[in-house]
Amino acid sequence: MLGARIKQGRLAAGLSQRELGRAVGLSAMALSKYENDQIKPSSDALLRLGKALGVRTEYFFREPAVALAEIDFRKHAGLSDKDEKRALEDVREQLERWLVLEAIIPASWPKPFVLPAGLPNHVASLDEVEAVAEHLREAWKLGSAPIGNLVDKMEEEGLKVILTAHDGGKKFDGLVAKANEHTVVVVSKNWPGDRQRFTLAHELGHLMLHDRLAQDLDPEKACHRFAGAFLVPKAEALRALGESRTWLEPQELFLLKHEWGLSMNSWINRALELGILTASAGRRHKQFFAEQREGDVSWRELEPGQPYPKECPTRFVQLVYRALGEDLMGESKASELLGVKVSDLRSRRRMEDANALGYQ
Ligand SMILES: [Zn+2]
Repeated sequence: MLGARIKQGRLAAGLSQRELGRAVGLSAMALSKYENDQIKPSSDALLRLGKALGVRTEYFFREPAVALAEIDFRKHAGLSDKDEKRALEDVREQLERWLVLEAIIPASWPKPFVLPAGLPNHVASLDEVEAVAEHLREAWKLGSAPIGNLVDKMEEEGLKVILTAHDGGKKFDGLVAKANEHTVVVVSKNWPGDRQRFTLAHELGHLMLHDRLAQDLDPEKACHRFAGAFLVPKAEALRALGESRTWLEPQELFLLKHEWGLSMNSWINRALELGILTASAGRRHKQFFAEQREGDVSWRELEPGQPYPKECPTRFVQLVYRALGEDLMGESKASELLGVKVSDLRSRRRMEDANALGYQ
């Protein structure tokens, strides 16, 4: 077990055996023997490994609890195998911490996510995808209003949402996977909020549409459509933009982006798919966005004005402090779960850095 954990930690740090060996003064050969449980590292070696990998030594003794089975992994072709492994290890590691915390506070956890009742068995067109998105809004009692904090809502519905910083330099957007009885949705921590929300909604689409789509429907396109429809229902998009338009003003799109948490570019797509813009009007908008510059990149890549705020879930951290407050765990466990030094944890408990929220 120790060996498997050393390997997981190394992959999560994105290091080769040689690189990690160099950092801790061991040969790649010795490290390989540790990883295969052929020799047992000394406590001093474990300390050095922990330091180099940014984990506490307890990490090496924790049973790996989950195996991920991917449903969808949305990545750019440029994401290397190494970065992919690193992202997946980070997800697994974060999920394990969730499960440790759940075992410590068996309080009021939402039941693991299940699909809403009444989904059609067969989805034959993009219009029907639109209906599935509305079905989910209804099942989740979202009405037709903008969705404030999407991560909170998903967690309330029993999904495990994980934000990872390890996206290989923004090379992957998100993924949805099964782990034991849990459904895990992962999104990159590095994108602006509108992009994170679109990705989360896209991954929800994979969950809803899995094994239901007609063969001639491209799953990626269908999930994009699902995302748009889930974030901005058709009736609301028509109300905001009107039935038929020739030109959507950037300022108008900017305001709608901040109202609904859907990017300006996605609003243009939404207008196109609902027939509010004709195909040629759509092309004019896209051309215009490709020509306008924000710094040295186009509005296609970086939209003008204030970005939409990132999703910032705090439930995990809050529950660690709750467990501390009730003496359900000690400071050493809490700092391991939060990924901070005990001394930092203590200063946070004294509110010396009241704004420190994240745990990575
Ligand atoms: Zn996808």
